[in-house]
Amino acid sequence: MTPILRVGILSIQGDIEENSNAIKESFEELEIEGTIIYMKDLCDLDEIDGLIIPGGESTVIGMLLFLQGVQIDLLRKKIHDGLPILGTCAGLIMLSNRAYDKTIGETRQELLKVLDVTIERNAFGRQHESFESELDIPYLGERRFNGVFIRGPAITEIGNNVEIIAEYNNKIVAVRQNNILGTSFHPELANDNRFHTNLTKLMVEYNKYKKRT
Ligand code: GLN
Repeated sequence: MTPILRVGILSIQGDIEENSNAIKESFEELEIEGTIIYMKDLCDLDEIDGLIIPGGESTVIGMLLFLQGVQIDLLRKKIHDGLPILGTCAGLIMLSNRAYDKTIGETRQELLKVLDVTIERNAFGRQHESFESELDIPYLGERRFNGVFIRGPAITEIGNNVEIIAEYNNKIVAVRQNNILGTSFHPELANDNRFHTNLTKLMVEYNKYKKRT
């Protein structure tokens, strides 16, 4: 059977495998024929119904991603036109409008600037201060979600059209802006695919819409 959904995973750097497993499981859960395109560049943008930008190191991902030149504007346009996208941790930073660090201030790094938020990088400490916490996320249902934080960022400012979907210690750690989902933590490490399932549902809608237009 021909796959009906194609999800791109930006595969420059970071936890690509874990996102791949989580999205495959969500395809199975929803009984959807789906396939993954591991994107080292942005050549396949017209092929995909959704995109995941994994966690990793945002400065490295940004530096290599921005070698894509004009394709970056095409990606921005696709997102603007409704391409569902999930950015986790470094992926969230990549989507943001602005990023800073408590010690060095404004980080001069390449950002996609499609999600109307300001980000504080490493807001929960360094690698050895990684932790897990059960989060209340009504957007996903009643059951709490295990947030895995690894040098995670916090969202410190949001625009009017950004919905807060999770907070931890009075810090915003997950948001949605229409077709864009961003998390400070790593849902692909949670053994709970609800974020990936949510992305898949958005992709199904987008795919239908694409076929109509
Ligand atoms: N602190 C990292 C960054 O700024 C993100 C960490 C992660 O993705 N686990 O890119």
